[in-house]
Amino acid sequence: MSNARKSIIVIGGGYAGLQAIEELAKNSTHQIKLFDKNPYHYMQTDVYDLIANEGDFADVTVDLCTYCTGYNENVSFVKEEVTKIDFIRKEVITDAQRYSYDYIIVGVGARTKFYSNVKGLKEYGYGIKALHRAMYFKQKFEMSLFKKLDEGGRYCYPLTIVVAGGGLSGVEIAAQMASFAKAFYEDNHFICRKLNIVLVNSGDEILKGVDPKLVRQSQKRLDALGVITKTNQKVVELSEQRVVLSSGEVIEMDYMIFAGGVEPNGLIFDLDIKKTKYGYIEVDEYLRSTEFEDVFAIGDCATIYHEGKAIAPTADVAEQMGILAAKNINALCIQKKMKKHEIKSRGILIALGRGYAVAKLFGINIKGYSAYLLKKLVEKVYAYKLEKRSKVGCQKIFND
Ligand SMILES: Cc1cc2nc3c(=O)[nH]c(=O)nc-3n(C[C@H](O)[C@H](O)[C@H](O)COP(=O)(O)OP(=O)(O)OC[C@H]3O[C@@H](n4cnc5c(N)ncnc54)[C@H](O)[C@@H]3O)c2cc1C
Repeated sequence: MSNARKSIIVIGGGYAGLQAIEELAKNSTHQIKLFDKNPYHYMQTDVYDLIANEGDFADVTVDLCTYCTGYNENVSFVKEEVTKIDFIRKEVITDAQRYSYDYIIVGVGARTKFYSNVKGLKEYGYGIKALHRAMYFKQKFEMSLFKKLDEGGRYCYPLTIVVAGGGLSGVEIAAQMASFAKAFYEDNHFICRKLNIVLVNSGDEILKGVDPKLVRQSQKRLDALGVITKTNQKVVELSEQRVVLSSGEVIEMDYMIFAGGVEPNGLIFDLDIKKTKYGYIEVDEYLRSTEFEDVFAIGDCATIYHEGKAIAPTADVAEQMGILAAKNINALCIQKKMKKHEIKSRGILIALGRGYAVAKLFGINIKGYSAYLLKKLVEKVYAYKLEKRSKVGCQKIFND
């Protein structure tokens, strides 16, 4: 590879960004900077365990400073929020300072879309895409169950939780909460076991776009766990203790998780760069901006296509995008040809409560405990790789 030292900035230490760093770091001549507004990498794919109290925040986070220290000196972490990118002057701007780059990879993910036409949604709905919101919800869930303990034998008020959005995250969280609460009641021999989990889905089936067999299996599991699914309905209004659905039905509830949509991250809104009609960064088949040759976009903040259809944004896809964007930058640095993406989803694993999952991997459907073990294995392998790098970083910090 060329000895010309290139300054490469990666914005976002998510699934996509960390894979890009791993690939870029193979070239020790690059000067690589990872920016994130948070000091940690948040493993959103494991958050269902956190919410259902089967893990704490340490299980779903990796310290980015320690992680980056695990690489050679040419990789560094900057804990600053990027507020602007000047693509003409090739500068990244934060509240603290400006940083120039030769190449930039934008991987800032997406955020929960709190629709402004749904009254009360932003005030009373809980999102789970940000760790602090997931943590807040976890505490609320825990406190509700504790309150039940406290009330034991005196009253038997139902606890009603509404999950709006029957996509992957909504379904996983509804199932996990139902399963966890069921075990909690059983373990404590509660007489009062009134837990209502209501899953509100805008289409006539949950898990839009997912393999029909997985949809059927997931729905069956939700039914067995006692989750009440309301299809062809939308949340139109929300207050502290009431949800109004598009059918006019009013649900008295304790709280609501909103998993009904995502939108481009705030930074992307403000960027002066070509975007798709939904506001994501428009990239070509090399994952490069269609407007700027030195800008790549990866993960949930960009949209890519397979056979003309947009590929659903997942951690799996984000990781593949991160690797390819970095490889293409490496190729450009030595005047080699870039590679077109052939990215597609490698499979899907859906956690549906304690010891149960459904999956389709390499065309094979699996369900039950074996699928659950597989999901755990995928998560463990991912976490193990990050942990290995962090351990090296930790040793370096302590030896300093
Ligand atoms: C509950 C839930 C369950 C899921 N389950 C699965 C699953 O089972 N399998 C699967 O494949 N996918 C799953 N997903 C989807 C998956 O988590 C996302 O597709 C994935 O996180 C996208 O990776 P990313 O790198 O694009 O973005 P992210 O992982 O969201 O990372 C973006 C990073 O950018 C940083 N950032 C944002 N703005 C700025 C800024 N202005 N300056 C600096 N840094 C910034 C953020 O702090 C963050 O670290 C799930 C998502 C959720 C919410």
